[in-house]
Amino acid sequence: MTNQTKIEWTDFTVNFWEGCQKVGPGCDHCYAEARDVRFTGGSHWGPGAPRRKVKGGIAKLRKINRDAPTFHEAHSHWPRVFCSSLSDVFDNAVNPAWRAEAFREIALAENVRVQLLTKRVGNVEKMVPDSWFEAGWPAHVGLMITVVNQAEANRDIPKLLDLKARLGIPWVGLSMEPLLGPVDLKEWFGSAPYLPGASTHVGTDGFERQDIGGLILDGVDWIIVGGESGPHARPMHPDWVRSLRDQCAAAGTPFLFKQWGEWMPRDRCLPILPEDLTVWPNGKTGGGIGSANENGGPGWPSIKVGKKRAGRLLDGIEHNGFPGALA
Ligand code: SF4
Repeated sequence: MTNQTKIEWTDFTVNFWEGCQKVGPGCDHCYAEARDVRFTGGSHWGPGAPRRKVKGGIAKLRKINRDAPTFHEAHSHWPRVFCSSLSDVFDNAVNPAWRAEAFREIALAENVRVQLLTKRVGNVEKMVPDSWFEAGWPAHVGLMITVVNQAEANRDIPKLLDLKARLGIPWVGLSMEPLLGPVDLKEWFGSAPYLPGASTHVGTDGFERQDIGGLILDGVDWIIVGGESGPHARPMHPDWVRSLRDQCAAAGTPFLFKQWGEWMPRDRCLPILPEDLTVWPNGKTGGGIGSANENGGPGWPSIKVGKKRAGRLLDGIEHNGFPGALA
């Protein structure tokens, strides 16, 4: 059996190429770029940099697909595959022939549950193959976008839900890692822009939704939240995570808490130590002293203990929600 990944929300990663360009604050400390520097000299990041084709990516996906029945027997779910963990499938600078080849293979891998994750939701419609419009978006492929703060949520979630409705994407999700500020998602759970004349139905979560031509306009199906890891990681305020947990619970949306990351919240009652960093509700960080009035409320002391020690318990509970399509 092919080696599994330790990433909590998937079983395998498959990469067809490596290389990318930073497009937002979530990319600031890109793990894949650091890896590229370490293993290949670091020449595959940026607008003019050539991307590097990964040998064996296609063969790996085919093998996971072939072995899927055995995997299902052992794990009671079909193998989840994150394509691509070291690049962005919807990167403008990649050779279009590589992307076409990747999409062909993804469409053929019907025994796996493909998790596409992008920071370029605006490119999706123009880059997916024509066959995904003509024959329909493959039922085993879901689409996720990265959302690290409220500005990205406001900008990109409407685009994601519009694509879901128009292209018939079976499930969509948000990867909120690294979470860099508080985010209010209530507007998008089980909701859609109002379309006059559309009939409606009430979902199992109690929300009213619109039916248009047999297509149900649905909300976000899955939320993954995580703090940042790596040497330059930024801390995450525990109330940001708690709020998303509670919003998901209220909407009946599966919630997976991936990790605290490099920093872990300290007990507020303990004295602030010199190595603590205070993270403020508005996303700013600094030393131990700062004004609650200026920063949206009381700051929270965090200590850098490393990803492993920080773990992934939120108020003592491990959250491992998955959408029905991946269960
Ligand atoms: S989109 Fe992903 S792979 Fe590309 S630079 Fe940003 S974090 Fe790195």
